[in-house]
Amino acid sequence: MFKKTSWKPNDSESKHLPIYRHKTKLVQAVEDSTFLLVTGETGSGKTTQLPQYLHEAGFCKNGKVGITQPRRVAAITVAQRVAQEMKCTLGREVGYQVRFDDCTSQDTAVKYMTDGCLLREVLADPALSQYSVVILDEVHERSLNTDILLGLLKNIFSNPSKATRGRAFPLKVVVMSATMETDKLSAFLSSCPVFAIPGRVFPVTCTFGSAVGPKDAESTFYVKEVVKVALDVHTGEKAGDILVFLTGQSEIERACDLMFEKAECIDYRYDVRDRTVEGLLILPLYGSMPTDQQRQIFQPPPPGIRKCVVATNIAATSLTINGIKYIVDSGFVKQLSHNSRVGMDVLEVVPISKSEAQQRAGRAGRTSAGKCFRIYTEEFWEKCMPEYTVPEIQRTSLTAVVLTLKCLSVHDVIRFPYLDRPEERFILEALKQLYQFDAIDRRGGVTKLGELMVEFPLHPGLTRALLRAASLGCQDLLLPVAAMLSVENIFIRPGHPDKQKEADKKHRALAAKTGGMNDFATLLSVFQLCKSSDRPSAWCKDNWIHWRALKSAFSVETQLREILVRLQQRKDFPVETFVGNKSELLRRCLCTGYFTNVARRSVGKVFCTMDGHGSMVHIHPASSLFDQEADLNWIVFHDVLVTSRVYVRTVCPIRYEWVKDLLPKLHEVDVYELSSVAREEVTDEEVTKWETREAAKRQQEVSAEDV
Ligand code: ADP
Ligand code: MG
Repeated sequence: MFKKTSWKPNDSESKHLPIYRHKTKLVQAVEDSTFLLVTGETGSGKTTQLPQYLHEAGFCKNGKVGITQPRRVAAITVAQRVAQEMKCTLGREVGYQVRFDDCTSQDTAVKYMTDGCLLREVLADPALSQYSVVILDEVHERSLNTDILLGLLKNIFSNPSKATRGRAFPLKVVVMSATMETDKLSAFLSSCPVFAIPGRVFPVTCTFGSAVGPKDAESTFYVKEVVKVALDVHTGEKAGDILVFLTGQSEIERACDLMFEKAECIDYRYDVRDRTVEGLLILPLYGSMPTDQQRQIFQPPPPGIRKCVVATNIAATSLTINGIKYIVDSGFVKQLSHNSRVGMDVLEVVPISKSEAQQRAGRAGRTSAGKCFRIYTEEFWEKCMPEYTVPEIQRTSLTAVVLTLKCLSVHDVIRFPYLDRPEERFILEALKQLYQFDAIDRRGGVTKLGELMVEFPLHPGLTRALLRAASLGCQDLLLPVAAMLSVENIFIRPGHPDKQKEADKKHRALAAKTGGMNDFATLLSVFQLCKSSDRPSAWCKDNWIHWRALKSAFSVETQLREILVRLQQRKDFPVETFVGNKSELLRRCLCTGYFTNVARRSVGKVFCTMDGHGSMVHIHPASSLFDQEADLNWIVFHDVLVTSRVYVRTVCPIRYEWVKDLLPKLHEVDVYELSSVAREEVTDEEVTKWETREAAKRQQEVSAEDV
């Protein structure tokens, strides 16, 4: 697939980047070592230039140069930029691949991709034989997949026979990072050579605000404050662009609307200190934004106009915007973390770390001295902000990653070389979940089902539900649901209250088409209705549905279907039969994957989860089951949202009989036993003893449960 890049390249720009003077030496250093660590300030040109230098030096003759990015948007945006600099069509010599979007071809020599994509490629081809050089970029971000790739590559190189197996020539690995934690990284990579790109940074003066103090750690009123501070900068400071850090799409859109409204009232004759400033251009920047809009971010504003980019953390290190002189820092970030209160991974808005705050401030000092306005107090900095950001591997579910490692024959997942070791209980939790999904057996070995599961770039629970459906021959019910759950929210939520009412009405009508009691079925129905419509985009507009999100859902569904069709050709693909109606079939398949997310009505509108945490949860108001709680006893849900309450979203009612054989699995694995599974030290005798004991326990639990 090719995508046209429409704007003109500007070569001379790249010659001014700090990396340019070191081109020859850098290429030589890659040539001379198998493992090389390249460090340099963000914006020095590592991501966009080094792959081009290697391409120019002939490294692509033996294979591709692959560059990983922790973030999807970064992979796409940077590939676009490099295609433009190399004067080629995106998808030809320069391409990108992110989950569910492959923009590469046979000609692709320089390939940007997410770290998750490379991890999947390692699964299919552990020697990475298509590549001559692999560059792990943005390693300081410490994303889960990059950390795992680091460990895997270290493993390969500590065993020379592994390093060359299946390859005609040795692979070169370059690890790139900003100037954080350099010593630690180099030590981890067996003291590999380090190439530090010297860069000049200009001083940035930081000031604290008074709006957010230690008591406000959970408040969201900071959006207003951020807007106020940004406009104060606009009216009170000299020319220079502004970069505002907020946490997510809806917040950013709200801030942009508010800022726009207020900026319209500025009288440039009287209100603005710098007379050369004649207007404000407000631009949002977040992950799921259409890429054409993202391009605007990088273009210099028209003369006299000040640019104000309102961004997520993506602008902290992954993307560099030239011309930024002022930073407005909210002090918060949206981050996926394991929430011990609900025993699940939850996206939460949390205070950033001090090192992150310094990184954000640094974005104002790339080309001249800058200023950073923190809206929080110094006390907030002292009391609420940790020194460093906890790496993702130490705060999120490891289920998918552990399955990947096991499929790569890394059985001892506890002693795997982690740059920062996750707590053992997180590894055990992952093993337990995999065991519950039948992806691994009691000895920790990958089952046939596990081998099938690892092929899908989805959450293991969703994959499990999908595979169950496929074995029952009803994949057409689950594929669209899985696709819809893999794209951004499809329901439009307008800011204006009247419009919101109108949207709610339409959404309720869509839910009513399937009986109004199953959010998963609503997703399926929206997918089918839109797909069969003559004018799908108009249909979406009419129903307050994001057409762009649905279009991606269509594409995701096709890709999932392709994976499934390929797997179904295997002789051992499971086959089952079932007699019953579609609604029951869909919900039963969901139970198979989501039995870890089962809840039972407790009192009133409160439900209690059955996973051993016994968390009290409420049905989210956006669910079609909201306000119908009285008729429900058992439900399964897709995910949770934690605010002052714990809400479950995307819900459907189930019957206890459907999960009664599955629920005991949630309790039967005991952590002590699993730790030996993890270390592979169990004997046959122990397994038999344990199985007998567990079977007896299970029998007791099942009969004690009231139906
Ligand atoms: P590093 O990886 O060292 O942080 P990059 O290679 O990302 O540095 O950035 C180098 C330069 O390229 C920066 O000045 C940045 O503004 C510019 N740049 C990167 N992507 C784009 C883009 N899509 N459009 C315009 N300029 C870009
Ligand atoms: Mg970079």
